Amino acid sequence: MRNIAFGYSTRCNLRCAHCVAADTLPDYQKMELTRAKEIIGDMAAAGVTGISFTAGEPFIYFEDLLELVALCREEGIYTRIVTNSYWAKTADQASQRLDRLKQSGLCQLRLSYSRWHQEQVPHANIRHAAQACQQIGMDYFISFVTDFSAADDTCEQFLRDHALKFFPEPIIYSGRADGFSRTALRTDYQDNRCAMNPYLAPDLNLYACCDAGSHFRTTNFFLLGNLGNHALDQLLTLSERHPLYNCIRNMGISPIASFAGFKASEIVTLRKCELCKMLFDVPERLQMLREAAGGRLQRWIR
Ligand code: SF4
Ligand code: SF4
Repeated sequence: MRNIAFGYSTRCNLRCAHCVAADTLPDYQKMELTRAKEIIGDMAAAGVTGISFTAGEPFIYFEDLLELVALCREEGIYTRIVTNSYWAKTADQASQRLDRLKQSGLCQLRLSYSRWHQEQVPHANIRHAAQACQQIGMDYFISFVTDFSAADDTCEQFLRDHALKFFPEPIIYSGRADGFSRTALRTDYQDNRCAMNPYLAPDLNLYACCDAGSHFRTTNFFLLGNLGNHALDQLLTLSERHPLYNCIRNMGISPIASFAGFKASEIVTLRKCELCKMLFDVPERLQMLREAAGGRLQRWIR
């Protein structure tokens, strides 16, 4: 099954303190609408069955978004949009936008919510957007980004008070959140396997991981190539056959870190994307893992 995170534009109306978007980018990037449509056609031909519109704030280009979602429906591709709900100022405004998206064929809305988003967007917007979804019968969920500290209790209580469907999602300590202080999380030792859905950036670079993976700037470990000079199917196949990516998918980040010499007591204090960066964005360690991926690492199983 092929799913893609589609970054039509990196432009965002907010500036969240925890955003993984790198401050080093001088300005935002945006794809041409006609090119985006061609790429969606290529994705359908390459067997992509799900597209998540993400990156910056997709609703900024709402009319374009309607066209892209409608095209996906024609191609039989499942669609999701990730949004910060800035547009849902009232219940009526939320319903109007979502009605149009539903008519275009949108399958699911994912609402980003956190104490950092909500410094700029009223909590009520999330409620308006979620309740409008419930009223018109559109699938939705709230992605509640948290560092699991008591500072997030009020946000979580808001979601519970309004009986909204939400899933806690660990903050990624990358981009602007890189300098945040961390509290040690102690939980069960886990494999930390990743699905690794590719991310297409507006400059047409395709990355093998849609989360922090596009920010590994020292080694560019997750960069698959650019659609300007490679066919989509070729790059997706490269991702699917890559020995180290397959170790991440099948073994998980924690066993790879253990293989690489990290102490177990250290592994349980690090978030998976931090650990991933320490493994794959350090040239010497990456070289060692590349050499081991076809043999010793693959045999590092129970
Ligand atoms: S976290 Fe999302 S809403 Fe906030 S600045 Fe980044 S892209 Fe925009
Ligand atoms: S751990 Fe690595 S592969 Fe997994 S989501 Fe984070 S950056 Fe991507």
